[in-house]
Amino acid sequence: MSDLDAFRTETREWLEENAPALIRQPIRGDEDTVWGGRNAVYDHPDQKLWLERMGAKGWTCPTWPKEYGGGGLSAEESRVLAEELARLGCRPALFSFGITMLGPVLIEFASEEQKRRFLPPIARGEIRWCQGYSEPGAGSDLAGLQTRAVLDGDEYVVNGQKVWTSYADLSDWIFCLVRTDPDAPKHDGISFLLFDMASSGVEAAPIQLISGSSPFCQTFFQDVRVPKDQLIGKVRGGWTIAKRLLQHERSMISQLGTGGGPRAEGLPELGRRYLGGTEGEPLPDPLIRDRISQFGMDRLCFGATTRRSVDAAKAGRGAGAETSMFKYYGTEMNKRRTELAVEIAGAQGLGWEGEGFSDAEVGLTRGWLRSKGNSIEGGTSEIQLNVIAKRVLGLPD
Ligand SMILES: Cc1cc2nc3c(=O)[nH]c(=O)nc-3n(C[C@H](O)[C@H](O)[C@H](O)COP(=O)(O)OP(=O)(O)OC[C@H]3O[C@@H](n4cnc5c(N)ncnc54)[C@H](O)[C@@H]3O)c2cc1C
Repeated sequence: MSDLDAFRTETREWLEENAPALIRQPIRGDEDTVWGGRNAVYDHPDQKLWLERMGAKGWTCPTWPKEYGGGGLSAEESRVLAEELARLGCRPALFSFGITMLGPVLIEFASEEQKRRFLPPIARGEIRWCQGYSEPGAGSDLAGLQTRAVLDGDEYVVNGQKVWTSYADLSDWIFCLVRTDPDAPKHDGISFLLFDMASSGVEAAPIQLISGSSPFCQTFFQDVRVPKDQLIGKVRGGWTIAKRLLQHERSMISQLGTGGGPRAEGLPELGRRYLGGTEGEPLPDPLIRDRISQFGMDRLCFGATTRRSVDAAKAGRGAGAETSMFKYYGTEMNKRRTELAVEIAGAQGLGWEGEGFSDAEVGLTRGWLRSKGNSIEGGTSEIQLNVIAKRVLGLPD
């Protein structure tokens, strides 16, 4: 038996023994997503147990080094783990901007001391992070940001405002872009700072959306004092880190294109439920059948391409500007998928609330509306096309 086969057997046995039954069921909605943090909310004790067990093994961040709270797995082992988790239909133990965005740049840019301080609590889900990038006058033109950090002794004093800060009101810490040198050219005057959202002078005000929910905030900083050892990388070196983090974010968002993870019921199953027909026979509506098949083929191709790119990145051939292609295509695919799901469900796919709609149907409607934001968050589709033109195709400005 090869080492990898032995690892698969071991992993399978561990998961069979340790994944609680609830965790093997599909995610129904927000109540089933665990974000961890100091004020973590668990809808069921099994969610906490699952996070603790996976966190203790480092399997929330399988490829991070063990000394930073990760699982220390190779790329191949991590793929086996993902396959075994999928085999049992396990939900992710943790949803975390710390894992998908901040952690990878800390591993690349932070000092040893900072890595040992910040990474293990991310892996165990103890600290929930939010992203302080966008400002009222700096979204696509992110380098135009104005939030100031001025060094005063051993501390930076931060003043300014961020906007669209997802879950700022629920997060413990923020990774924040600040201007430390207002006289330098705009990209060169930015630094990357971490601080506690409970610091004096931080205020997060939720923005009420038309849907009634408030996933984002306006975030205000007034004379927030931040120890200078919480600056990552070089002073004025924040733009390089910011761009790298965006590449990780864009990779993460692009994965929505491959099907939405454990939350999503597959399109063929939806088709069977709403369009009828005989089990084992093709769906009765040829047009919908054709679109589902086309989506399935595109999904497979996209999945294979992104996987090849992840392998290339792990082999040191860098995940760089091409993440913009994946972000652009993956978010368009996710919009296509949710649109098709709503069409298949017909009037039942347009419910907002009320007895006439099941939770899953309301989830379809909300998922479809939410997907519209995919091509804005992490940089809009137009900005991705600009990056592809300049950095991938080498076209002139
Ligand atoms: C769901 C969601 C979650 C988010 N979460 C966060 C978060 O947690 N933290 C955070 O910091 N931000 C967050 N954002 C903000 C997001 O990063 C910005 O909305 C995005 O970068 C666009 O910036 P903007 O809204 O200021 O739009 P603008 O920059 O004002 O753009 C307006 C329009 O002009 C177009 N445009 C602008 N410049 C160009 C150009 N040079 N070429 C072509 N077209 C252009 C854009 O594509 C867009 O269509 C989130 C956004 C969404 C939708």
